[in-house]
Amino acid sequence: MGLSEIKERIAKAEADAGREAGSVKLIAVSKVQPDDRVRAVLGEGHRLFGENKVQEAAGKWPGFRDEFDGVQVHLIGPLQSNKTRQAIELFEAIHSVDRPKLAKTIARIAQEIGRCPDLFLQVNTGEEPQKAGVLPAEADAFIDECRGLDLPVRGLMCIPPVDEAPSLHFSLLAKIAARNGLEGLSMGMSDDFEQAIALGATHIRVGSAIFGERVPG
Ligand SMILES: *Cc1c(COP(=O)(O)O)cnc(C)c1O
Repeated sequence: MGLSEIKERIAKAEADAGREAGSVKLIAVSKVQPDDRVRAVLGEGHRLFGENKVQEAAGKWPGFRDEFDGVQVHLIGPLQSNKTRQAIELFEAIHSVDRPKLAKTIARIAQEIGRCPDLFLQVNTGEEPQKAGVLPAEADAFIDECRGLDLPVRGLMCIPPVDEAPSLHFSLLAKIAARNGLEGLSMGMSDDFEQAIALGATHIRVGSAIFGERVPG
């Protein structure tokens, strides 16, 4: 499909939803993609990327940052507490803050370093046992707790269950964000980003529709 087609579809979805042009940020999810595909997208001028593993990002992005100006990389996958320092140093934003212990660790290390990435709190909207995130019923308390730690909470993130209509999950996430006065909504992937934009997404995470199918590592 490719970057330019996705950008056109985003512009159309913004217009259809009566939203300002450019109000949705496209995170190009480059996990597991070969370097030449990532470099091609950088060459087209795109600068915002998403990775789901700290280790993989640490191997690939310092080099690309030397090669290209203005690169931003967001962590969108689960973060183990023992990789927190590395994550704070590597990423401009973390979308997977999913438990109080991790929030406390981020607060402590960010304080030490004197800098903290933008944070999105992950909500397990489908209440799936295998999935990360706080339950919807716990979200308000978790948001308060993170704010109490002085963390830069920009918004919420969700990954809907594969076998359910994503729009129900996007609406739920938007509702929780609105009642807590949060503006950021990280939701929508290759198959459903237009629905996410219609329901208020500010950050969409699109991988395979830009880069092609992921090559198994
Ligand atoms: C891989 C991934 C994506 C992108 O998925 P595509 O279906 O390739 O667009 C988005 N969000 C998260 C959290 C991911 O791990």
